[in-house]
Amino acid sequence: MSKEFQEGERCLFLRVKVRIVCKQCGETYILRGNKEHGIIQTGFKQCLCSSVSGFEIEERA
Ligand SMILES: [Zn+2]
Repeated sequence: MSKEFQEGERCLFLRVKVRIVCKQCGETYILRGNKEHGIIQTGFKQCLCSSVSGFEIEERA
């Protein structure tokens, strides 16, 4: 019962490739993330320039 629930839960995540652009320094990162209910989770926290916000996140095909 609980195992089936976990497998169903995993199906909600869609693996996506994202491009993150730092608006502070222009650095770009290509990462893999999970998309859940239209929200992309990448685990990306901080740019090399220490910026922690103001990123442009673009989903790649
Ligand atoms: Zn930066």
